[in-house]
This record gives sequence, C-alpha cells and structure tokens, in this order.
Amino acid sequence: MIEYIAGLKTSVEVATTIAKTVKDIDRNVSEAEYKAQLAELILALSETHLSMAELNSILIDKDKTISKLQSQLEMKDNIVYEDPVYWKTLVDGTKEGPYCQKCYDDNKKLVRLLTFSADNEGAWKCSVCESFFNTKEYARRRRENNRRIVKNFTL
Ligand SMILES: [Zn+2]
Repeated sequence: MIEYIAGLKTSVEVATTIAKTVKDIDRNVSEAEYKAQLAELILALSETHLSMAELNSILIDKDKTISKLQSQLEMKDNIVYEDPVYWKTLVDGTKEGPYCQKCYDDNKKLVRLLTFSADNEGAWKCSVCESFFNTKEYARRRRENNRRIVKNFTL
C-alpha cells in the first residue's frame, strides 16, 4: 500500500507542476506546445485517478479483513467449550446455544444445534454437518432407560 501512496503523491506533484506551467505559460508559446502541456496534465491526472482507485480498493479489502478479525476476536472471547458443545456467554452472563463443535472448530461458524425432541435434553444434532452431540448425563440416562426396558422385557 505504501507504494500506491508514493505513486499517488508523485502523480499529484507532476500534475501540480504541469498545472503551474500551463498557468504561467507565455502567451507567445506555440499552440502545439500548449496542447502538449495540457495532454501531459490530463495524463498525470488520469494516473492519479487510477492510483486513487487502486488505493480505495486496497482500503476496502483491509476494512473487510479488520472487521472479520474483530468479529472473530469478539466471538472468541464469548464462546466457551463445554464438552461436547460450544456455548455463547452473553453480556448479562446467561448462556446461549449450544453450538456445533465441529462447525466452529473447522471454520469458526456458529451453528445452533437442534434438539432431537423435547424429552431429549442434552442431545443435539447439527443441521449443517449432521453431527450428533450428547452430554455424559444424557448418555447415562439413555443407558439406564435401556437397562430398564431390557429388565422389564425379560421379566
Ligand atoms: Zn456442524
């Protein structure tokens, strides 16, 4: 970017010098020389315009990068991993989520997880990567439930 700013400064200096020359030009100078000076001025201004457009494009890209990094930084501070999922801690201290561990670890995407059903507290599915997550408490309840079913069936 520094080279663009240096190029822009040079173009402006050249244009200014030519403009001063054209302003102070002797009325006795030939029409051809006068037009040549104007053509140089127009060229210098065109180069300045191009340099400004390139500089503007670079600044827009840098703004996007800064914005993306700021949002990643803000998210990082507020995202907490609690095995096996991520939760977002809000300003008031409450938790929001859960969010998919795989999607967040892969590409920093916060994808809200869906519960299987109302009675499956602690078990979720990601609608993007199709991963399933459940807490240890959910797995324990599920095992106990299965044992109860088997026990009832065998009695
Ligand atoms: Zn996912």
